[in-house]
Amino acid sequence: MAAVQRLLRAAASSSSSSAAAAAGRRRMATSLAPEQTPAGAPAFPFAGAERRRRPAHERNVQWVFLGCPGVGKGTYASRLSRLLGVPHIATGDLVRDELASTGPDAVQLKEIVNQGKLVSDEIIINLLSKRLKKGEEKGESGFILDGFPRTVNQAEILDGVTDIDMVVNLKLREDIIVQKCLGRRICGQCGKNFNLACIDVKAENGLPPIYMSPLLPPNNCMSKLLTRDDDTEEVVRNRLRIYNQMSQPVEDFYQKQGKVLEFDLPGGIPESWPKLLDVLNLEDQQEMKLAAA
Ligand code: AMP
Repeated sequence: MAAVQRLLRAAASSSSSSAAAAAGRRRMATSLAPEQTPAGAPAFPFAGAERRRRPAHERNVQWVFLGCPGVGKGTYASRLSRLLGVPHIATGDLVRDELASTGPDAVQLKEIVNQGKLVSDEIIINLLSKRLKKGEEKGESGFILDGFPRTVNQAEILDGVTDIDMVVNLKLREDIIVQKCLGRRICGQCGKNFNLACIDVKAENGLPPIYMSPLLPPNNCMSKLLTRDDDTEEVVRNRLRIYNQMSQPVEDFYQKQGKVLEFDLPGGIPESWPKLLDVLNLEDQQEMKLAAA
């Protein structure tokens, strides 16, 4: 995954947000040798790495999932990743793994995440680069990114290092997203995600009714359910506010490139999954996979 190497180089200079600065960074990113790494920046482990972008037919899909926190990006991105055989990379998971570690950034990160704020572009790109590098070593090709990019600066850096084929923008009413986030639970033992919320919203103001059944845990997980520290109502609303402020422009960024597929979730997984496969023209793939199972 040559994109990894380019990302690693770009990570060294990812803190400014202007387009000109981003263009400058891209130039610098492809010309810096390891010994020229700026002070304090991550080292460049891939000196002399390949700079060519792989055309789409030589690699697996490179997709981005956009949408408010809690909309269901993780659910659909992970299902598609299994169907297409590409890694699902959620930067929120990378951040949570880092929080669980005893690394030097863990305490500072926890404070930021628990307030619903974004961590710095530099930290997030470092975490993503490390994850891509690990995947590359295992022979992974392609990806579905979930939770990245979340700022225009991140989108510009990504654009400078690799090609994104498609951006799926999941949409759901904000009041429903809040209910869903407050219902989220994770099993402290097996790590599986569940949702206790039963969403049953009547049609109003021209908006369709929406029903989403809860995703209940099996009995053995029931007593081990945990709530994410950042799933309180105050933090959820703050994350939505920050999403609207920082990440809506990312939608515009990809809209201008004509890469966005807008998808209004019609309900829970049973209603939404077949419809998503239909709009992505992946029904045949699903049938083949089921037949082979
Ligand atoms: P998520 O699970 O996607 O809601 O992410 C959890 C938290 O991780 C977010 O509230 C941010 O603090 C942090 N985070 C995840 N992805 C990013 C990103 N691309 N940029 C900055 N912060 C991020």
